[in-house]
Amino acid sequence: MENAQIKTFNKTMDSFIDKLLPELEEIYKDIHSNPELSMQEFRTAKIAADYLTKYQYEVSTAIGVTGVIGLMKNGDGPTVMLRADMDALPVTEATGLPYASTKVARDEEGIEVGVSHVCGHDLHVTWLMGAARLFSEHRDQWKGTLMLVFQPGEEVGRGAQGMIDDGMMDRFPKPDIILGQHVMVGESGTVGHRSGAILSAGNSLKVKLFGRGAHGSQPQTSIDPVIMAAATTMRLQTIVSREVAPIENAVLTIGALQAGTKENIIPDDATLKLNIRTFDEGVRDHILSAVKRICCAECAASNAPRDPEFTTLDSYPVTENDAVATRRVAEAFDAQFGDKSYETQPASASEDFSIFGRSWKVPYVFWFVGGTDATTYLEAKKNNQINSIPSNHSPKFAPVINPTLKTGLLAMMTAAIAWLD
Ligand code: ZN
Ligand code: ZN
Repeated sequence: MENAQIKTFNKTMDSFIDKLLPELEEIYKDIHSNPELSMQEFRTAKIAADYLTKYQYEVSTAIGVTGVIGLMKNGDGPTVMLRADMDALPVTEATGLPYASTKVARDEEGIEVGVSHVCGHDLHVTWLMGAARLFSEHRDQWKGTLMLVFQPGEEVGRGAQGMIDDGMMDRFPKPDIILGQHVMVGESGTVGHRSGAILSAGNSLKVKLFGRGAHGSQPQTSIDPVIMAAATTMRLQTIVSREVAPIENAVLTIGALQAGTKENIIPDDATLKLNIRTFDEGVRDHILSAVKRICCAECAASNAPRDPEFTTLDSYPVTENDAVATRRVAEAFDAQFGDKSYETQPASASEDFSIFGRSWKVPYVFWFVGGTDATTYLEAKKNNQINSIPSNHSPKFAPVINPTLKTGLLAMMTAAIAWLD
């Protein structure tokens, strides 16, 4: 692909994008103010589906509950799949923005929670809608098949798999390339790409440890699950420090530890909730088996009446960008964004995006779009305070609309056109 071609395409496109931005800003604010929890994205899905219909896509809805796919065949050429996730989080927004969400909803356990788009998936949806319209209105500029995918339930790790399980691979053409992007803390206007692992694998599990309850004054009649849980917690910390090589990266966090209700009652059981992040499948498999080994061994050491019970809470694979395809995206980004295109470090966040590419066995590329006001970001960087900028999932996560809205749209189109022309 020659850089001249990329520039020609985007030079004309640039003015069309600018003209479309006010409409997209309205769509963005509307979706932002009306967030929906994972697997409940009915309103958002309808907005996307109606828009795709309006711009002449062949539209399929309710794939894996709320998933939407728009297809546009435009002559011979590769099939390019672009993906946006639609779900919001059970977080009460505290950005103070005029279009902040005040919505509440019931989560899957029936508990009322505040809901907000503090992971920025509202931007992802808006970017893809903008690309949908522009690609449709400028069909003379590209050739091939576009497959636009609006995915539910990324935050619970079930959305991509849900669409695959709903027959997506039989009902739609196999893509030649799958592209996706995420707004992150970073200088607005920039795009960060990376070959290989860009996002960690994420594995969460619940471990229930069984003891034998008793009166607090009669410990000899108990098998104390509090001691069992405490010993297990400490021993689990040796996995990363003693069993993983120093050049590998891994995180094992115990985010919840629950046992008992009262000071003089030894409870029957204890529960740990663990979150593990890794960048290599071998390391991930080793840690998962080490967790089981240590939990079982600690229970045996305590003379537990039965083995612990393990429940998977979620499981995200590593997002590992294809090297050849990433080079093509990076070259297109360098031509389009100049020094605003850079090679990023991997992030220890996780995504279910790669499930599409893994299932179909086709290359995929995922990249980051900076969403922090440039002055704020550069100032924080100078003062070594980037960690104080509210990040994704913080109630104060608030990407700036300009130029983030334009950058993500341009990035998606630039990457897609690297295959479509
Ligand atoms: Zn998220
Ligand atoms: Zn996200």
